[in-house]
Order: sequence, then structure tokens, then C-alpha cells
Amino acid sequence: MSTPEQTTATTMLAERFYAATKEIKLEHIPIPTPGPGEVLIKVAYCGICHSDLSLIDGNFPARVPVITQGHEVAGTVAALGPGVNQWKVGDRVIPSAGKACLSCRNCLRGDFANCLDLNLMAFAYDGGWAEYVVAGAIGCTRVPDNVPLEQAALLADAVSTPFAAVVRTAKVHLGNAVGIWGVGGVGTHLVQLVKLAGGVPIIAVDINDAALERATRLGADYAFRSDDPDLNAKINEATGGRRLDVAFDAVGISATTRQAVANLDSYGQVVTVGMSAQNIEAGSFMEFSLLRKQIKGHLGYKVQDISILAELLSRGRLDLSESVTEIVPLSEIHRGIEMLEKKINNPIRILVQP
Ligand SMILES: [Zn+2]
Ligand SMILES: [Zn+2]
Repeated sequence: MSTPEQTTATTMLAERFYAATKEIKLEHIPIPTPGPGEVLIKVAYCGICHSDLSLIDGNFPARVPVITQGHEVAGTVAALGPGVNQWKVGDRVIPSAGKACLSCRNCLRGDFANCLDLNLMAFAYDGGWAEYVVAGAIGCTRVPDNVPLEQAALLADAVSTPFAAVVRTAKVHLGNAVGIWGVGGVGTHLVQLVKLAGGVPIIAVDINDAALERATRLGADYAFRSDDPDLNAKINEATGGRRLDVAFDAVGISATTRQAVANLDSYGQVVTVGMSAQNIEAGSFMEFSLLRKQIKGHLGYKVQDISILAELLSRGRLDLSESVTEIVPLSEIHRGIEMLEKKINNPIRILVQP
């Protein structure tokens, strides 16, 4: 391995999550060494995601006793592992947040992109709330020169997951009437991407007036409160009576899915992007069968989605300048986590800067 750029340090500051006690500590640990086919990345920014909170609060089971969290990384290549020749030190990259397991039935037939037991960064191996992180050289995405690294960090999940929901799962196309339940972090990006995909009209539904105001500013044609007793009538009127072709549920509780399903046109589909432990109570069999309604679950994105988004940003088609709500230094990681937990300042994305 070559020496990390501009440093002779052998240790680095990292957040460490202890599964047994659910404690978060800031510690100095050895700078990791990239193995064959891996690169060491100096982390510029790393997002704080709801799935990170789910590990802390126990909703996601811990896979290892101690781990560095954070999986939404953008940074620069600091060192190359043996055999890596696709990258050079100083390249600006977004690493893939998952590694194929190499042993499931899809991996065994070479379909690594559809691995059934993906090892996830920050859950199975150390992530990016640290000064450095190790990632596979294959799976890194180059960040265009004119894209700031703080916006690049958003592409590692916060924007790529909504992108894949719009383009791959829902297949939104020009002229689709689209509703979006929950316009926080994920839902705000859904609004922007549905607009790019040609959805019309775009209807944002939320309980938070500030979030609704922001969704309108970023592309929603209508913004309705979810507790409005006239919600269904308003959606009916906004769509000229045809109701919704696609409804995204970015909240993921039975109440929002129920509202979304109730507002579908025949053959319409609800795509669930949000997640909770609640059961889906979507309506009657009669409603589904007679009107051929559908519900689809969505998770994640493909690595190539990150480079598509990087190009949209680079060419000015997508504006994420409002998406970084706050940048906290790694030493204040506890404050950043609390801001997301309590939704302080109605955040789209909070980034950690090591
Ligand atoms: Zn994430
Ligand atoms: Zn696999």
C-alpha cells in the first residue's frame, strides 16, 4: 500500500457503535489498510441516514459487536490496495455502500448486482463517520469536477434511493399524475426526480407545513395536509378526476399507505419507500381486484444510478443546493444524530465532516 496522502499519521478519529450497550463513542483507531482490489478513501463528507439511527435504536439487528457507522460517503482516494489500477490518489469518488457476499445463489451465477446477502457498509464492515474508509475499487463512482463533494455525498443513498424508486420501481413517465406521501428527506428528492421524469401534476402530502412549503418550492404542483378531511376530494380535483397513476409512500405506516391506495386511479400503483414495523392495511380485496391496484416495495439503487445522478448534477439538470441542511464536525456526531432523530430544522440531509 502507498502512504495516505498528506499524512504520516497512523491513527484516525472514528465514531464507534457498541452493539451490546448501544453506546456511541469517538475513538482514535488505526487507519485501515486497503486489501487487494480496495482503495483507502479520505472522507470529505458522510451523510447521517435513518438506517444509521435504526442500528442505534435496535430496529436493525447488529451484525458485529463494534462498528464505525455512516454509509453515505464522498471523498478522495488516499491510497491504493494491491492490484488497483482504475484509480489514482486524489481522485474524487463515491464508494459503493455494499459488497456482494460471493456465496449466495445469485452471486454464484455471477449476478453480483442482485446479491441476496449484501454486506453493507456501516452494518457489516466499517463505514464513513471516520477520517478514512476502505471500499472496493470496483463500485466507486467518479465525481465530476464541477460537483461539490457535499452534494456528491447525497448521491450515495439520499438521492439514489428515490431515483431508483422513480425510475426503476415505479417507472414514472411523462404525464403520470403522482402523489408523494411524506416530503422530508426522501420525499423532497422524490418530488424533484418525479418532476425531472415528467410527472404531472405532482401532489405532496405531509403533516408538516414547512415541509409542504419546501416541496412546493422544489416542484410540487399541489401541497395538501394529510390530516385534511377533504384530502381525497382535493386530490380528485387536482387531477381532474383521474386520480393518481403513482403514489409514493415515503413514510411507511399503515395510515399513509391506506391514503395513497385510496387515491389511486385504476391500474395505479403505490410504491413504498418508507419503512416501519407496522402491517400494511391497504384496503379491501374488492378495491384491489376491481380497480387492478398494485403495491410495490422499493429498496436501494444500482451503482450506475449514482453516476447518472452525478451527470444530472454536473449538467445542471438537478439542483441539490437546498439538500444539505447542516454539516457537523465528526467531533459533534452526537448532535448531528440528535438533529435527525428530533427532526430539528426539518432536515433533508445532515452531513458529518471528519
Ligand atoms: Zn442511507
Ligand atoms: Zn451474494
